[in-house]
This record gives sequence, C-alpha cells and structure tokens, in this order.
Amino acid sequence: MHWNFEHSYARLPGQFFARVDPVPVAAPQMVLLNRALADELGLDPDRLREPEAAWMLSGNQREPASQPIAQAYAGHQFGHFAMLGDGRAHLLGEHRLPEGRHVDVQLKGSGPTPFSRRGDGRAALGPMLREYLISEAMHGLGIPTTRSLAVVATGERVFREQALPGAVLSRIAASHIRVGTFEYAAALDAGLDLVVHAPEGVDDPLVDTEAQDAGRLTRTLADYTLRRHYPELAAAPDRYLAFFHAVMERQAALVAQWMRVGFVHGVMNTDNMTLSGETIDYGPCAFMDQYDPATVFSSIDRQGRYAFANQARIAHWNLARLVEALLPLLDPDREAALAKAQEAIQRFPTLFTARWQAAMRAKLGLGNEEPDDAALINDLLQWMHRRGADYTNTFRELSSRHAMDNPAALGAPFQDAEFSAWHRRWRERLDRQPGGLDAAVPRMRAANPAVIPRNHRVEEALDAAVQHGDLDPAMRLLEVFGNPYDTGLDASEYRQPPAPEQRVYQTFCGT
Ligand code: AMP
Ligand code: MG
Repeated sequence: MHWNFEHSYARLPGQFFARVDPVPVAAPQMVLLNRALADELGLDPDRLREPEAAWMLSGNQREPASQPIAQAYAGHQFGHFAMLGDGRAHLLGEHRLPEGRHVDVQLKGSGPTPFSRRGDGRAALGPMLREYLISEAMHGLGIPTTRSLAVVATGERVFREQALPGAVLSRIAASHIRVGTFEYAAALDAGLDLVVHAPEGVDDPLVDTEAQDAGRLTRTLADYTLRRHYPELAAAPDRYLAFFHAVMERQAALVAQWMRVGFVHGVMNTDNMTLSGETIDYGPCAFMDQYDPATVFSSIDRQGRYAFANQARIAHWNLARLVEALLPLLDPDREAALAKAQEAIQRFPTLFTARWQAAMRAKLGLGNEEPDDAALINDLLQWMHRRGADYTNTFRELSSRHAMDNPAALGAPFQDAEFSAWHRRWRERLDRQPGGLDAAVPRMRAANPAVIPRNHRVEEALDAAVQHGDLDPAMRLLEVFGNPYDTGLDASEYRQPPAPEQRVYQTFCGT
C-alpha cells in the first residue's frame, strides 16, 4: 500500500508495549474507505482495490513493513486508577507522509492482546462506524482529532448484550501517547507491580529486571514525546516544565474548540487524553442540540462527571495526573518539584478561559477585546439555556448582516424583551470594533458551523448501516460534514433539531 513504516515506539523499553499480531477474521469486507485521507497519506490508490485493502486493513494480511505492537498504559477511569493498555488494538507502525510528518497507523478491534483483561479484543460495527463518522466530522470542523481511514466488517459476530456484526477500524493519529501512558511509566518507576497476565505464548511485557533510578521510564517517555510532538522544546531550559505547559496549552485550546461546537466527549478518562492534543476515543460522545451546560449523553456517566460544562475542569484534573507523573523530572528535590508542579497546574483555568473566550468572541463576531465581553457571552448563553434554544442554530442564525440589523426578522424564539435587550448590546459592541458589522459576518460564519452531526442523524445512519447494510445515510453525512461551515449542499435536513420523538438522550460506549 506504500506504507513507509517506522517503529520508533517499539524502540522504547520493553515495558511500554507487547509485540503481538492482529488475529485474522473470517471474511473481511470493506465498509467505508477514506480515499481523501489515503491520498493525503500518500497511499497507492491501486493497492486500495478490493479485496486486498479489506484484507490488509482488517489485519488478515500482514503488511511486510509492519511490526505490530499493543501499547501499555494505565489511566484514571471515572477517577479510579487502573492498568489498561491496548486491549483490542494493534499499532502497525508510524507511517511517514510524503511531506515528512509521521502518523500512527492503528487497527482497532483487531484481536486480543496481553492487555485485553476480560475483553474479547473485538469491536462491533456500529461503534466503529460511529468513530469514523464523528472523527471525520470533527476534522471537517477544524478540530484536532485522530482520523479514520477505513472500517472493515469482519464477517464475525461479537457478543455484547446481543450478537452484533464485528468490524475493525483503522485509525490514524499523530500518536497514541496518552496521559495514562505517563501514569503507567510513573507507576513502574515508583515500583508499582503492574503485571499483566499474558495469554500463553506471549511474553509478559511488564517484567522489569533493571534497577530503576528515579523517573527513568518517565524520562524516557517524556524525551520521546518531546521529540515527537514538541521538538521546539528540546533545548528549552527546564524542558520538562516547558513540555507540561505546552501540553496544557494544547488541551486548553482543544476543550475550548469542543465547546465552540457543542461537543461532549463523554469519557474523558486520562487514558483518553492525548499528549499530541488530538481528540481521541469516540465512544459515547455526542453533540448537544439544545443548549444546556449540564448535558450528558453517556449511559455510563451517571454523576455527570463528563458533562458539557465540566470538560475544562476534567481536563484540569487529568493534567494534574500528568504533572504528578512528571514530578521526578521537574526537580530532584520532591518539595521543589511539587512547588513547580503546583505553580504550573494552577495556570490551567486562566489558559482555558482565554481560549474559551476567544472562541466565544469569534462566535459573536468579535475580533477585539472589551472587559464586558464575558458578560455579553454569558448573558446570551443563559438566555439560550432558559429558552432551550438550539446551540448551533442560534449562533448560525445570528451570523448574518440581516440578523444584526433586523432582530425582528429572526424567528419566534428570539422575540422576547430579554433577547432584544441583549441584541442591542451586541449590536453596539459590534459597531465599536474595527471593521464593525462587516468584519463580524465572515468571522461568525467561520466559527459557527451550519451543521453538526446531530445524534439522531448519526444514530439513523448507524441503524441503516448495521440493520440494513445501507451505507447511503452514512456517506451523505460524511459528504455534508466535509465542509460544515458552508456545505454548498442542501443540508437543511441536517440543520433541523430532532423532533421530540427523535431525541437521543443516551449514547453507549459499545465496547
Ligand atoms: P475505552 O473505554 O474505549 O477507552 O477503553 C478502555 C480500555 O478497555 C482500553 O484499554 C481498551 O483497550 C479496553 N477494551 C475496550 N473494549 C475491549 C474489548 N472488547 N476487548 C479488550 N479490551 C477492550
Ligand atoms: Mg480509550
């Protein structure tokens, strides 16, 4: 396929991964193939012909240059520490793009590994299609994310609450290094016994025979991550602290972008937070229709830990786990290291607020700053919350010269005294900025998508695919979300909020 694989991760100490091959499946069949992404990756279109592509991207046929591994990691899941690792994924290698950048090529659902615990190593078609659709929609929205190259049906069934068709997803990522990978390294460095019981015939990857100096594995991982994602910091003074700051910056920016489009990740465990700053692991994630900061979709998030408006707080909590893992690298003296960590981590809320306000200013068409902007933003959000207004459509409807000049022409939901008063303030604020209203319109149309992958549309597309083998709705979604700010297509059906009977209240991990 023209993969240019390198295997830098497999040169890390053996505790970081296990060598294990994907397990072939009964009857691989291509369901979705991302030709645009294949092209970006420089893959040979001739080799993407069937049935070879399905064989390769299910793991049935080993690419000559691949050296599959499962990565070891830990993580806090809903606040509790656990040893995890790729329980159903295989990293084939790091592919070098024509432009020189490297990306991980990972199969997900490709069979058990030493980290499978009680899982079967497999994935169901619905959740893999869901990850494909939403990750590609996020990419279309301009938000850093892992990408999806293909979904291949396995011709096998997986057993969850019921028998479901199985599938393998090929995921492309800047890397799969997670906060949980650092927690894992730190736990080993601290002498924690994280032995995974390997299936027969597979070497136990976690037996460390060498005596350890403080933070040895963590430092190795940090140096590797720095080289891969933050090469500009390699020579920085206090580089591990600079590294942590840079990771915080990317997470602050990422969560602000999620909130700009109404995205609820749903399972922000530390193993689902990348060091690259890409969104990863599309399980029970969903986009909010009506604005409500308490929105939770995930069936397993009963306390609302990962609710829409809690996401920055959780990112902060997760980053605290990261800086804890980095402590031995910050200073040889524990007290001094703690002081540095404390000083760094407490900057996160300020970093996030700056990013969030910048995103929300853009949504209101504002290109400069005034002290009352936060109140202007929050007053609109509160009005939306009280009215149950649709998050996406409200901002999009405001994104025109007509809406700025003529609030009376906006729909019925906007016709109340509170909104009129807000609209007057907003209009005056726009008049005061350089470029005035004219500068606001393109800014708003670039910040406020016309369409988001609404849950009821996503569920409908998954149902059609899984129940009836009909991929048309999924293809159509992908087409519309190729350019969500200006689809150029008749996308009116995708702009409609769900009718009451179409509403999706819960989403499931489907693992
Ligand atoms: P997730 O909730 O998708 O982030 O997954 C959490 C952990 O569970 C990861 O270590 C996965 O590899 C593992 N896992 C999820 N589903 C399975 C499965 N069917 N078989 C083995 N491991 C799994
Ligand atoms: Mg995960």
